[in-house]
Amino acid sequence: MTENQNKFDLTKIYDFKELPDKESGRCDNCGQAHFKSTVGNGKFIRECSHCGMKKSI
Ligand SMILES: [Zn+2]
Repeated sequence: MTENQNKFDLTKIYDFKELPDKESGRCDNCGQAHFKSTVGNGKFIRECSHCGMKKSI
């Protein structure tokens, strides 16, 4: 497969400071703007509800 899926490792939590949104409020991986959020250890994790890509904000 030569499509550019798997551009991002969905098992990893990206750091928003190192990887800001290409388009603010949208997932870098799939472009959707639908997220669920969790808070743990003082960190805010934003997970895309479409592809599951995670970023700590
Ligand atoms: Zn996504």
